[in-house]
Amino acid sequence: MMPGPPPRRSVEGEKPAIDFPHMALVFVCPNRDLSPWRRALQALAPDIDMRVWPDDAPADDVALAVAWKQPAGALHRYPKLKTVLSLGAGVDHFIGDPDLPRGPVYGRIVDPQLVAGMSVYVAGAVVSVHRGFDGYARRQAARYWDPEPAPPAGDWTVGILGLGAMGMDAARVLRSLGYTVLGWSTTPRVDAGFETFAGDAALDAMLPRCQVLVCLLPLTSRTRGILDRQLFNLLPRGACLVNAARGGHLVDADLLDALAEGRLGSAWLDVFTHEPLPADHPFWKHPHIRVTPHIASITNPATAAHQVVEDYRRAVAGQPPTFPVDLGREY
Ligand code: NDP
Repeated sequence: MMPGPPPRRSVEGEKPAIDFPHMALVFVCPNRDLSPWRRALQALAPDIDMRVWPDDAPADDVALAVAWKQPAGALHRYPKLKTVLSLGAGVDHFIGDPDLPRGPVYGRIVDPQLVAGMSVYVAGAVVSVHRGFDGYARRQAARYWDPEPAPPAGDWTVGILGLGAMGMDAARVLRSLGYTVLGWSTTPRVDAGFETFAGDAALDAMLPRCQVLVCLLPLTSRTRGILDRQLFNLLPRGACLVNAARGGHLVDADLLDALAEGRLGSAWLDVFTHEPLPADHPFWKHPHIRVTPHIASITNPATAAHQVVEDYRRAVAGQPPTFPVDLGREY
């Protein structure tokens, strides 16, 4: 156990310091190297007592837990827990825990570098498809010189499913490159600055206009399996799918059928139902599927630690976290 901070003494003539009870934060993130987090928190807030589950330190002074794929019931060890933060932007691992304590409030870390990294990944995929880079790689292998002018970026429409922290920033970056962007969310976005669609019925109107469809939705009971045959049928022939959200959004067999029938032209996939992607999965060798190993964006402790410190202080003061999660709606 790390020693707690020394009690604050008032200097003669000054107002007496207010003594908060000693509290701690714990990381419940099995099989993860947490030393970068320890270094980042130590540099920012050396007074914070950071613990790592599993340990045998006392548990009744822990105010905040940072969790990632926590074992079912692990959070019950901390009776005074006020806030639980997801280590990453996705919170489907909370929803999948059947034994989640209902006393604390829930939140997630939205690291500015994670958001920026996702936008770069999405822009890279869109530019690659638009400019035909995969085709040139194949022609290079055949030493075949065959220039093919690409249409202007403005003639290309990219649809984004999910206009949250990731989707809105990806839209901003794509628009700065000149692409036409359409976006889809649950609630109408009148102030987005680009054309948006809200609700299930509106999606049918957006899809036929998208040469590239980017999925940046949270995985919930409403969005699981959303990337299926029915959706692919509404896209223009030869469209590209980019899935950087969760593998559970995609119906793998429907994607393979859509590619085989030419209804879709290609797919960029960063996330999979089973990770690592099994060695015998047909996605690995498919000529029109680009596989990346869940690297679209990764939380960076050095930048994300600022939010952990802020949310720890908020938890101790009984305030909600910076990015709250509504367990009822699953994101
Ligand atoms: P947010 O919670 O900020 O945004 C979610 C968006 O999806 C909101 O716009 C929301 O609508 C919309 N949405 C949710 N459900 C529906 C629905 N049924 N129909 C229409 N729209 C819906 O999430 P983030 O942008 O932070 O992250 C999105 C996902 O990206 C994460 O959940 C995670 O799974 C994934 N991710 C993947 C990473 C990777 O490396 N591959 C890295 C980081 C995140 P509304 O605005 O109306 O609420």
